[in-house]
Amino acid sequence: MSQAVDKGSLLLPIVPAGESQEAPRTRRLPEWLKRPIPAGGGMGFTRDLVAELKLETVCESARCPNRSECWTARTATFMILGEVCTRPCGFCAVPRGKPEAVAEDEPDRLAEACARLGLKHVVITSVTRDDLPDGGADHFRRSVLAVRARTGATIEVLTPDFDGIPARIDRVLESRPDVFNHNLETVARLQQAVRRKSQYATSLSVLAHVKKAAPEIKTKSGLMLGLGESTEEVLETLADLRFAGCDFLTLGQYLQPSTRHLPVVRYLHPSEFDELGRMARALGFQEVASGPFVRSSYHAGEMARSADIEPASNTVTADRG
Ligand code: SF4
Repeated sequence: MSQAVDKGSLLLPIVPAGESQEAPRTRRLPEWLKRPIPAGGGMGFTRDLVAELKLETVCESARCPNRSECWTARTATFMILGEVCTRPCGFCAVPRGKPEAVAEDEPDRLAEACARLGLKHVVITSVTRDDLPDGGADHFRRSVLAVRARTGATIEVLTPDFDGIPARIDRVLESRPDVFNHNLETVARLQQAVRRKSQYATSLSVLAHVKKAAPEIKTKSGLMLGLGESTEEVLETLADLRFAGCDFLTLGQYLQPSTRHLPVVRYLHPSEFDELGRMARALGFQEVASGPFVRSSYHAGEMARSADIEPASNTVTADRG
């Protein structure tokens, strides 16, 4: 990129025009998104543990394409606060409806699972709970503390927006997660279609508040690509994230969970992800994961360790993450 424009204090690269992409006419995936079906049996330990402890994972709920790989490696991303979400996002496979009561013993069950998996880096996410007075913030806090007490692992929270209310975000921060992740998901123009009841500015304010309130905690966000955004819009979004002080970034291909969800507008070639990753680093993100299969929690432990975030103790026995 030889040219750049100012956006605040950032230099925003200009992408060459004319990178043509094929719009999908069928639901057939391009070659780079096809994966061999793994030989059986590897996921069993993780699957049985999740079932035994009656936990939810976003791996299953969001129909993540990496589940075979992650679960075989005994890594999972746990979803607290139930399996029913109060927001109707157009991309997400998590069921929407009236959520159940919060399970008070969930933090202990979660900590038990993390200990038995031997996780060194734990990612905790949740459904959005607009029905709860604090949006579930205190349950996040309790979950982080329980996992830390039991495992000594580094901990990443991947939170809803808490309506941008600082007191709720601060409640989570009381538990001092190592990484605070909140996804912007898509560019400003597509927020209404993709996230419906969530706001671009609110999500940016969440990340900015964390960085202001607890500068030592790494902030992280992610985008799904292939929903109709232009490359220029992606770069504008990355600049906005950097302006909010966001440290880590994930970029991955959006995949339609079912025909009831938003269609894929285009499949980005892996080389495009490489180029966007390079440009994101040029914009100042400390850590970037960019690729068709990248998700918020994909290899999250490697990203954390790459940024020199290490477990506080040696109470875990296996090297997972
Ligand atoms: S990438 Fe994250 S959500 Fe997907 S299977 Fe792996 S741990 Fe689960």
